[in-house]
Amino acid sequence: MFYSKSFINTSREDPKVAECRGHKLLLKANFLYMVSSGIYSYLPLGWRVLDKINKIIRSEMNLVGAQELFMSAVQPIDIWKKTGRDKDLEEVMFKFKDRKSREFCLGPTHEEEITEIVKRYISSYKQLPFVLYQIQTKFRDEPRPRFGLMRSSEFIMKDAYSFSLTQQCLEDNYQKMYKAYQIIFDKFKFNYFISEADPGAMGGSASHEFMVPAEIGEDVLYFCPKCKKYYKEEGKCLVCQCETKSEKVVEVGHIFKLGTKYSKAQGAFVLDQQGRRKPLIMGCYGIGVSRILSAVAETSSDSKGLIWPKTIAPFDATLLVLDKSQTQEALSIEALLEKECFSILIDDRKSPAGVKFNDAYLIGNPYIMIIGKNYRESAKIEVEKRETGQKFEIAKDKIKDFFRDEYNIK
Ligand code: ATP
Ligand code: MG
Repeated sequence: MFYSKSFINTSREDPKVAECRGHKLLLKANFLYMVSSGIYSYLPLGWRVLDKINKIIRSEMNLVGAQELFMSAVQPIDIWKKTGRDKDLEEVMFKFKDRKSREFCLGPTHEEEITEIVKRYISSYKQLPFVLYQIQTKFRDEPRPRFGLMRSSEFIMKDAYSFSLTQQCLEDNYQKMYKAYQIIFDKFKFNYFISEADPGAMGGSASHEFMVPAEIGEDVLYFCPKCKKYYKEEGKCLVCQCETKSEKVVEVGHIFKLGTKYSKAQGAFVLDQQGRRKPLIMGCYGIGVSRILSAVAETSSDSKGLIWPKTIAPFDATLLVLDKSQTQEALSIEALLEKECFSILIDDRKSPAGVKFNDAYLIGNPYIMIIGKNYRESAKIEVEKRETGQKFEIAKDKIKDFFRDEYNIK
């Protein structure tokens, strides 16, 4: 793609509204547009990242056999009254009445709605177990939206729900999801850890949170530097008795063993092998999809700009054309790499070289390639690895092998 034809509009000034480093960079590099406090639109660069995050999540969910659906954002308050969560979540719900004075909310989460859907179609143990998931917008009237997509009032979540007859089957689903989450968060290159958590308003018997350490984190955990264990409470490390250190963390994922709270309250029962009526045993599994974009920006950058991991970068490389006469050559390099499924942003603008370099660093694609003034004589492309600053000179006919090696493609 040509930069000159793209909708990428970076800014030179630091945005005044951003309270943290990652969010400042996402606004400056034009990944996001702030519509209102806590409400954002994803611009083409941000949407490319989000699309890759979603593809990683979808692929791992599908691998563990979860089936994707897409539920309504508008939900009748009546279904919330069945579980009493119309009161528990009253403060964060965006509520409204339609022209017939029926009460609705914009879904802050979907346990009630999925339970209504499932009970309509499931009546026998033979139809169990299964897992359903969606990637969808949630709405929560947060008391203090801040740090961009970290805590916003409208955000994207992946939420999955498992349904089974027995506790053992819930355990199996829970373990599968736990492992899938590890694979997903590894792919985002997070330095994350998993902590046992309080199920809170979701209910149920157990839950785990996937946490990423960050200065702007709103939760605090206690960390033993020797055993690398995290604790909810300050108190010496239970293994080695060392002093623990407090650490601020951001929750990027949360899984719950819900049990029968929703199925009992909403009447979701099946007949078991002996013909007895049993409530469905549920689990739910959330990932803060849009929060991940901000969490990566917050934890992966330098003084020049963002540094995207290869797995979710908007493009694999920015190709700087520093001499207009080389534009055709740039297209031919792009074609070579696109054949191998690498995506290239060709900076063909008339701007000075300094501006192009600044924007390439700011946007943070993993590689910056340069077709310099000497290309005609040397026939070599200069390549800089954004993460490490390492520089390479690669002949055009070797460029595809270089990228294949860097991406570990056999
Ligand atoms: P938090 O403790 O951060 O308020 P939560 O425990 O209320 O989050 P869950 O109901 O567990 O959130 O939602 C699943 C995931 O959705 C969370 O792990 C988090 O990553 C994300 N999330 C929750 N609230 C927000 C928000 N206001 N903005 C962005 N992402 C959010
Ligand atoms: Mg949570």
